[in-house]
Amino acid sequence: MHSLKVLILEDHPFQLMALHQMLNANGVFDVLTADSVEAACQTLSRRGRVDIAICDLQMDGADGLALIRHLAEHQLAAALVILSGAESCVIDSVGALARNLGLNVLGCIEKPATSLVLHQLLRRYLEQDHAELPAAGPPQYPQLLNLTTAELAASQEQWVAHYQPKVCFDGKLVGVEALVRWQHPSLGILSPAQFFPLIEGAELFDVLSWHVLDQALAFSAQFQSRTGKTLPVAVNIAPHLLQRDDFHDQVKAALERHAVAASALTLEIVETAGNTLTNQQLEGLLHLRILGCQLSIDDFGMGVSNVQRLLELPFSELKLPSEFVRGMAHDGRKAAVVAGALMMARRMSLNVVVEGVETADDLLAIKDLGHPVMQGYFIARPMPGGELIDWIDARNSAGCKQRAYA
Ligand code: C2E
Ligand code: MG
Ligand code: MG
Repeated sequence: MHSLKVLILEDHPFQLMALHQMLNANGVFDVLTADSVEAACQTLSRRGRVDIAICDLQMDGADGLALIRHLAEHQLAAALVILSGAESCVIDSVGALARNLGLNVLGCIEKPATSLVLHQLLRRYLEQDHAELPAAGPPQYPQLLNLTTAELAASQEQWVAHYQPKVCFDGKLVGVEALVRWQHPSLGILSPAQFFPLIEGAELFDVLSWHVLDQALAFSAQFQSRTGKTLPVAVNIAPHLLQRDDFHDQVKAALERHAVAASALTLEIVETAGNTLTNQQLEGLLHLRILGCQLSIDDFGMGVSNVQRLLELPFSELKLPSEFVRGMAHDGRKAAVVAGALMMARRMSLNVVVEGVETADDLLAIKDLGHPVMQGYFIARPMPGGELIDWIDARNSAGCKQRAYA
């Protein structure tokens, strides 16, 4: 771990020294220390970005939140560890705020810090694939900022759908979610967080959504003709697209173009404030449901009025976001949220997909609460269509027992 660069913000001299020694004991020798937010900001401006910032919350003068905001605004830390003696609900809220600001929150060290907890957090950082972490804020590539709308639109052939499997506990593949990537000729693969701000700015979100829907249906049709089996696909739909009066006609036309059954298509819609629908648009959604399409409310619980929306709209599925699921094995509050959502879904006869299943512990914790469909890095990351076919083939030849998540 000797190559990590870590900042500690802690105003208690003994705690600061203890943490410094624990880092050294873990093989981390590039340690920057500060006993105030001001000193931390100065050190960072002199020494530059760190891998991990360990940030105490309670301090005389500016508190740890000021440093968290500074780290996020200037992208000065690849990851954050919160250090505190505060109540766990306060620490959780600080963690949520830091994530909203775009920081990668590794976890929390309760005071007094122990070497074991610190070691686990350092391990977690090293195990993360930092290339996959969502980029915070605007795109980092200056060459993209100068593109005109026409140039951006012309790049749509490079907007490629990757596919992430959704599975049951018995290992059965129930479908895939299409997640777009920009396969840029010189910058490599860009994630939605890296290029969506540009797409939104150029008002090309509709173009992108139809483009991905088309690719996903083409892929499903290809799979069907190769294997004779249906591959259900889920496609993310920008909420304002529903407000187009011809939305359902266009979806129907796309299904017909690719000769894919409506029951093989799930439309995932993220809840946002204020996207109320007219009766005509609601009727359009009902047409799609009657046709057999599934309608999923994505990132359930992160929006504003989900429960009310659920009662109004013909949803058939809800997706629980990574934010609730990741780490739920060791976090009773998260587990309670997931349990509550599962119970509500059962009463409303809705299917549930749990996103963000990253570890075996979380998988087992979910299993204790019921048997929803799962999606997450523990099962597989989003991958190009060709790789997905290989992944499915490899699982099919492994047999049922090996595939099950028992
Ligand atoms: P989403 O629809 O909720 O998709 C799930 C996100 O979680 C994806 O991020 C996926 O790569 C990520 N993910 C999957 N498993 C795990 C896991 O175990 N741990 C963690 N931490 N993350 C996991 P991605 O691909 O970066 O997409 C982000 C969001 O961008 C999507 O959230 C969706 O709202 C939007 N998006 C992606 N593709 C499209 C698209 O084709 N059209 C539209 N309109 N929106 C899209
Ligand atoms: Mg989705
Ligand atoms: Mg989601």
